[in-house]
Amino acid sequence: MNYCSNCGKPVKLGTPPGDDRPRHLCTACGTIHYENPKVVVGCIPEMDDNILLCRRAIEPMSGKWTLPAGYLENGETVAQGAQRETLEEAGARIEIIAPYALFNISYVSQIYVMFRARMLDDHFEAGYESSDVRFFSENDIPWDEIAFTVIKATLRQYYKDKPTGSFPFHMGDILPKSRENAGEY
Ligand SMILES: [Zn+2]
Repeated sequence: MNYCSNCGKPVKLGTPPGDDRPRHLCTACGTIHYENPKVVVGCIPEMDDNILLCRRAIEPMSGKWTLPAGYLENGETVAQGAQRETLEEAGARIEIIAPYALFNISYVSQIYVMFRARMLDDHFEAGYESSDVRFFSENDIPWDEIAFTVIKATLRQYYKDKPTGSFPFHMGDILPKSRENAGEY
């Protein structure tokens, strides 16, 4: 950040009194610009024994498969965000079954909140950010072509729980530069 979003004057890095870390401070109007983690919301859209995956049409990880997920918008609940992202990326209407997993990705300041969801009908289509959308059964999941570690961790947990018929809430951490690292609490 170089300029104040409040008044347009230059900002500098400094630790405000009583704070314990540097912030962007406006030299003119005094605004302290706090930066906090972003929340990504998404879901596992189920229909019968299949789930819906999207093939990414945009970078990063263009061409790889992922679950519908994206940044939560202001004014949205996490469930509304997951429904909106699923409609935008997969053209699918869902109802939320339950919150399923939370992953901290602290090294990029992101928090993923993933739901289990039921498709309301069998309609789907690739949205702007997707080049393809398809149903997959467990045996067809393209494990080597899943876009992000956090999505792979969500899917691995899901297929671990599925045979038990019980889907408890999971919380884990995604760490940098390793693959199967969703350490669970
Ligand atoms: Zn300012």
